[in-house]
Amino acid sequence: MSKFWSPLVNDLVPYVPGEQPKMANLVKLNTNENPFGPSPKVIDAIQAELNDSLRLYPDPEGESLRQTIAGYHNVRPEQVFLGNGSDEVLAHIFYALFQHGEPVLFPDITYSFYPVYCGLYNIEGKPVPLTDTFEINPADYKQPNGGVIFPNPNAPTGRYLGLEHVEKILQANPDRVVVVDEAYIDFGGESAIALVDKYPNLLVSQTLSKARSLAGLRVGFAVGHPDLIEALNRVKNSFNSYPLDRLALAGAKAAYEDEAWFQKCCDSVIFERERVTNALEDLSFEVLPSKANFIFARHNTQAGEALAKSLREQGIIVRHFNKPRISDFLRITIGTPEQNDALISGLKSL
Ligand code: PMP
Repeated sequence: MSKFWSPLVNDLVPYVPGEQPKMANLVKLNTNENPFGPSPKVIDAIQAELNDSLRLYPDPEGESLRQTIAGYHNVRPEQVFLGNGSDEVLAHIFYALFQHGEPVLFPDITYSFYPVYCGLYNIEGKPVPLTDTFEINPADYKQPNGGVIFPNPNAPTGRYLGLEHVEKILQANPDRVVVVDEAYIDFGGESAIALVDKYPNLLVSQTLSKARSLAGLRVGFAVGHPDLIEALNRVKNSFNSYPLDRLALAGAKAAYEDEAWFQKCCDSVIFERERVTNALEDLSFEVLPSKANFIFARHNTQAGEALAKSLREQGIIVRHFNKPRISDFLRITIGTPEQNDALISGLKSL
């Protein structure tokens, strides 16, 4: 703290991102990146953009990329909002589309950025406990609120909520915006984007950081009714009119133009997820059913923190959350077959 700080900053409790270690030889299974890398077409597109046009500002509306994403998801470009990673999209959603002064509902346990945004904008957050089996129960979202947000699949549990249950939450809250954060939807879930024309209160956010392997490029987007998108654009243009640079716009567009690469990455992650799940079950772990590119698992007898530490000593990083209810669990990103083999033999050796 310093006398120069605004009082608003004094009270902030910021998000702590997962570790990004400098050593290259680690088996890094802690921040849910895609181990297979982006499509070569993305690299080509970014390289082609490295020219004199960098002196010019990028398209503030990202029109061409919005058209591509809209076409891919069968919506109109005016239903798409772009941001510098879905974290930024979510920040604008909290500001623009939740009714401040009323509690915003999100699951307990979930993505820990949601309470951070509540703190940033002085919104009350109301965590809604998951069931005994770590699932979201739609009936719990019928209470008065200023908006609802949840990831589907949820993080860090990996549990997926079927669209018929998502619809129940939408129907229970016709006067509030319900945000489905689909950061991990491409690994076996069904996107709620198919429902945006049916529910004007639905906003779906997605990212290119996971299935499209572009966490370093920082591109995310939201899809919903044009009225919701307009509110987000007002906030964007009051904050940073150019959230996506020229390289990000070009690379993201190319990522959508290589469907074969995308499908291959998703299929490999899903295949490996099942293999790692079975191997861990054989090693006396309970593994929650996951539709994400990670699994959430606890050992029958050994504590999560100690397991994470022992793996770390072998050069394998996984995520342990020191939080009530989940402190026995490890969140493990699905890696390449070789990385997953290293994990499995690392756990066998303990
Ligand atoms: N939502 C969830 C549930 C996440 O786990 C993440 C990744 N940490 C994000 C959103 C943000 O992803 P990005 O900003 O890279 O798009």
